[in-house]
Amino acid sequence: MSSSSHLKKIPIKIATNSVSSARRWPWMLKVEEWFYKHKNQLIFVHITMFVFFMSMMIIPLFTKFPDVNANIWNNLRLLSTFLFWGLWFPLVFASVIFAGRIWCGVLCPMGAATEWANKIGFQRPIPAWLRWEGTPVLSFLLITILGQTLDVRDENSAMLEIFGGTLLLALIIGIFFGRNKRAWCRHACPIGLLLGVFSRLSVIEFAPKLPQKGGDRYAERGVCPTMIDINHKAESRHCIQCFRCVKPASPGGLFLRFRKAGEEILQIRHRNPNWAEIWFMFLATGVSLGGFLWLILPQYQTWRQQVGNWFINHGWYWIGNTGPSWLMSVHPEQHQAYNWLDFMMIIAFMLVCMLFCTFVLCATNALSSWLAGKFNGDRTFKSRFLESGYQFAPIAMISIIIGLGDQLFKQLQLSGLPADLISYFKISLFLLSIVWSIYLGYHILKNQGVTKIGRFLALIPSALGSIIIAAAWWPAIFGVHFSMLAEYRAHLAILS
Ligand code: SF4
Ligand code: SF4
Repeated sequence: MSSSSHLKKIPIKIATNSVSSARRWPWMLKVEEWFYKHKNQLIFVHITMFVFFMSMMIIPLFTKFPDVNANIWNNLRLLSTFLFWGLWFPLVFASVIFAGRIWCGVLCPMGAATEWANKIGFQRPIPAWLRWEGTPVLSFLLITILGQTLDVRDENSAMLEIFGGTLLLALIIGIFFGRNKRAWCRHACPIGLLLGVFSRLSVIEFAPKLPQKGGDRYAERGVCPTMIDINHKAESRHCIQCFRCVKPASPGGLFLRFRKAGEEILQIRHRNPNWAEIWFMFLATGVSLGGFLWLILPQYQTWRQQVGNWFINHGWYWIGNTGPSWLMSVHPEQHQAYNWLDFMMIIAFMLVCMLFCTFVLCATNALSSWLAGKFNGDRTFKSRFLESGYQFAPIAMISIIIGLGDQLFKQLQLSGLPADLISYFKISLFLLSIVWSIYLGYHILKNQGVTKIGRFLALIPSALGSIIIAAAWWPAIFGVHFSMLAEYRAHLAILS
């Protein structure tokens, strides 16, 4: 019997609540069925992706450095950095809105490798330090900052260090912790948290057919590789969409569900809101901004000069020495070598931007939550702050895409697309994200029972927060073109 005819004969009873009152379109059943049927072949996808990623990281290291006439079509080093930062990064991000964490569940070679290592490893219980919600936040911040000091967006050896290093860590964690699980993916992967937070905005989710009350639960036993108790599943964050809990013909398990973009954030009070996500969104927005601005702000060069002079005047000449190449970009063959001054300035600048953005978002969100309380908002100030913090998800997402995915725009410009057009595209993305953030904020306030007039008043500070963040990106959107960026890099090289 074909599985589709089988499906017709077994009525699937889906409990109705806010999460699973579902529109089930025929194509979704077909997708479920397809994955169910081909799940054993996923290993070939993982192997192909693994080989491709490793090749793109290692082979370019043995090829020549790009000269002035080089482009992505005649230089493997440039092609490799473009594939990683110009295609892979923005596409994986954009796909979160339309397909959730499908990258993680179906394509990611690192996730597959950690799970494979886990099968042959010690399978120890996952320790508390790894389960701490702050671990992936720290992991993201460390990798992003190290990526900047190593110049990961332009240097192939830095890419190998960052991606190869995280792959090694993923394997180590896989070897030691969990039983047929992906402890790395849930608890430590810097990309996983990023995709997880923004998957709450996605138009699809996996929802329980027979949901149970009580909210999300952590389950080290069971089918889910990221420790989700599937019948209690209330949030998308940790679901890597591996389809393992999906059996189209079964009355239990999860099913693929289509929903309105951002619906989960509108229902956030019932969807396991979490402080780690709020901190992550606030901190990551700022650190990404810092990672872009230090390259293009003329003031950064002035401050660098002043700090450098201060050190020299105090006889601390070591500040001008280059450091180890695993910590900072040292490439004399390309006339670029950061010294300790660069290293410290880049980190300090990124941290200051991070604190600035976090302060702005915290202050405006706090004011908004306080006003909500004055106009009939339910629950405590802390709960309202937590809930309305999620309204910044769209602006945080766009900030990170533009900040870390600038290679795509650079390549578009090199391919002849007018720089102004690219700038208008970026500003449209920002405007869209601000409007979306305001929309989410309005409905979160409505769900808190805030009166109509109160909603408009409470929205003013939070909308201001989104606008300030967008304005901080102004130099990156309109103020700089990539030819200028190259000039700054050359300037840096001369200074060092
Ligand atoms: S969480 Fe990280 S390692 Fe795991 S599948 Fe996703 S991107 Fe890959
Ligand atoms: S909930 Fe289901 S689809 Fe999501 S990660 Fe767990 S097993 Fe995979």
